Amino acid sequence: MLQRSCGTCFACCVWLGVGPLKKWPGQSCKHLDGSIPDKRCTIYDKRPKCCVDYHCGWRMGIGPDNLRPDQSGVLVTLYPAPDDDQRFVATLHVIDEKKAGGPADPDSRLSEILALVLSTGCNDVRIVSGGERPGSPIVHLREGKIYRGVVLKPDHNKFEDMNFAEEEEPVGRYQIKRDEDLTAEDEAKRELHRRLARQVKSG
Ligand code: SF4
Ligand code: SF4
Repeated sequence: MLQRSCGTCFACCVWLGVGPLKKWPGQSCKHLDGSIPDKRCTIYDKRPKCCVDYHCGWRMGIGPDNLRPDQSGVLVTLYPAPDDDQRFVATLHVIDEKKAGGPADPDSRLSEILALVLSTGCNDVRIVSGGERPGSPIVHLREGKIYRGVVLKPDHNKFEDMNFAEEEEPVGRYQIKRDEDLTAEDEAKRELHRRLARQVKSG
């Protein structure tokens, strides 16, 4: 169940690839009409299944109102974890570097959003710039380690179906809280994670 309306944002309809429409990442969808407030997809009732199934993290409730993708410069997409119904994995698309800032700046919006996603217990996060085009750099955080990689050509079966290759050796590490160190606030975030994972899984 979605919790927010898109308002004046239409980031996902520009920055993600849509295979059935042969729309490449970063290309504005031909069915997008910026003149229609709050319902800008002109084929909304007949839009491809991959658009129907898309899960925008902000729209589902991750982060405060002012971190909507068009305002933060970061589009958060959630996917079901392949082998765990209670988990989601996330891709953070940097769609506006000026607004997002860099991961090295702890006060940047990108850092704030990354911290929010990790704080839910998400253990698989990809950060990609450049509209996810083949050849774009990617940073992959998983299970406490940070890997660098590169985006490969998409399969084009889903709204966004990112392929990437990464280096074998991690370039850094990040801290994961152990279960015994979780506070009541952490537990609430874990519960949010499980709830969103179930929503993502059920489509
Ligand atoms: S990126 Fe999220 S908030 Fe923006 S249009 Fe897409 S679903 Fe709506
Ligand atoms: S068809 Fe999909 S990508 Fe295009 S405007 Fe509609 S929802 Fe957005």
